Amino acid sequence: MADSTELSIAIIGAGIAGLTAAIGLKRNPSINVQIYERATELREIGATIALGPNGLKTLDKLGIANALEDSVAFRNKSGYPMIYKHYQTNETVSVDRHSDAVLERYHTARFHRPHLQRALLQHVEPSIINLNKSFASVKQDDITGKLLVTFTDESTTLVDLVLGADGINSAVRKYFVPTSQASWTGWVAFRSVFPSSHLSHIADLPDEAVHIWGPDRTLFLSPLAQGLFTVVGSHQSDPKSPNAAFNDSLWSSDGDVSTLREFYKDWSPVVKAIIDATPYTKVYPNTAADTLSTWIFGDGRVTLAGDAAHAHGGAFAAGGSEAIDDAWAFSQAVLHFFSESAYPNDSRASKVARALQLYAATRQSHTKRVQTTVQARNARVVKRLGEQETDGSLRKRMTQREDLKWIHEHDVEAAFKEAKRQFLKL
Ligand SMILES: Cc1cc2nc3c(=O)[nH]c(=O)nc-3n(C[C@H](O)[C@H](O)[C@H](O)COP(=O)(O)OP(=O)(O)OC[C@H]3O[C@@H](n4cnc5c(N)ncnc54)[C@H](O)[C@@H]3O)c2cc1C
Repeated sequence: MADSTELSIAIIGAGIAGLTAAIGLKRNPSINVQIYERATELREIGATIALGPNGLKTLDKLGIANALEDSVAFRNKSGYPMIYKHYQTNETVSVDRHSDAVLERYHTARFHRPHLQRALLQHVEPSIINLNKSFASVKQDDITGKLLVTFTDESTTLVDLVLGADGINSAVRKYFVPTSQASWTGWVAFRSVFPSSHLSHIADLPDEAVHIWGPDRTLFLSPLAQGLFTVVGSHQSDPKSPNAAFNDSLWSSDGDVSTLREFYKDWSPVVKAIIDATPYTKVYPNTAADTLSTWIFGDGRVTLAGDAAHAHGGAFAAGGSEAIDDAWAFSQAVLHFFSESAYPNDSRASKVARALQLYAATRQSHTKRVQTTVQARNARVVKRLGEQETDGSLRKRMTQREDLKWIHEHDVEAAFKEAKRQFLKL
């Protein structure tokens, strides 16, 4: 006999994945969604984030069109998602291109992270966000048969489904896969966001997002919406070396701009002028986790999304859009099984289990391919450390980049349809 009470979902983490999943689920108001967030206030850190056509299209599909507006999202006016420049000559050596079919609205955009977070929050009822709630455990409640989620303050909640969207060091993932751990890739980003007015004296200031490549490091520069500008420097170490530079640095800790000036002292005059005028920098050591063999835990009632499911660090600027696509696929899978007339003879637990299988079938193999591609790229970068590179081979590396359209233009809706066809024979 079907049971008629509403479905209750606990989303752990109010990051991009958690907020977007909650927005997706709003289409069925009889589903009770609560978000549990460890932080005591919602304050997005991490400076900037890029979203590709896949993430932007999904936001639009979910009615989050405000995130695509020019007051929030910065797009290159040339239409190129990325422009690659030479570190000494400042000439454009190569560009990325969107497929012709990608509408201008979905051209890759850069965001100041708080702007994107605010755009998402406009669609989330504040009362469903429970702050200062850090996930501790989840098990079946003997009396109700529901999932009993316990937080570190020992408070609890009973729900039918748990979505772990708690980021790269996910406590939900570690609870079910204790051996899974994000480890340092050896790459460290030095990020800052500040008003462009700091750079108004620089004649050749880039007015588009550019990635400048040198033999041993890169520099990302981009204007952002609302008159901001971002500078992202980088350093690559061998993570296995006991003396690796920055191996003890902490996420979002204060960096030293003089380190940046030293990194880029032999670069073009425009780069040096920008770095000289950069008022501060923060340090972000990049970490990544291994792929998971399953995304479904807790008797088929717990799953993961975003970095919790497939953390690969900031590589290819893909993680934000992947988190959005996960959230869309998760919410669609749940809505499919929990629409008014669907599966009237199935139990709630069976529908939850099938929804999670449909979600994993839509997302797991694609995100695994992204993760393994990033791992292979990271291994190549570490292998190259210490090699002397000629200008010719730098230019070759710049022009012979992998084509990543399969990541940035991935069609999650088509993948969902195909998963439904295979999994549900629909
Ligand atoms: C340096 C760097 C640069 C990046 N640049 C880009 C980029 O340009 N483009 C891009 O697409 N991606 C980028 N990424 C990746 C991107 O930031 C992530 O993939 C994306 O933020 C993942 O979203 P999420 O919601 O899964 O996790 P998060 O945004 O990390 O959100 C997780 C949330 O869970 C909360 N939480 C954690 N633990 C608990 C707990 N125990 N209980 C309750 N709540 C908890 C956290 O406080 C947080 O609010 C970058 C990553 C790095 C490291």
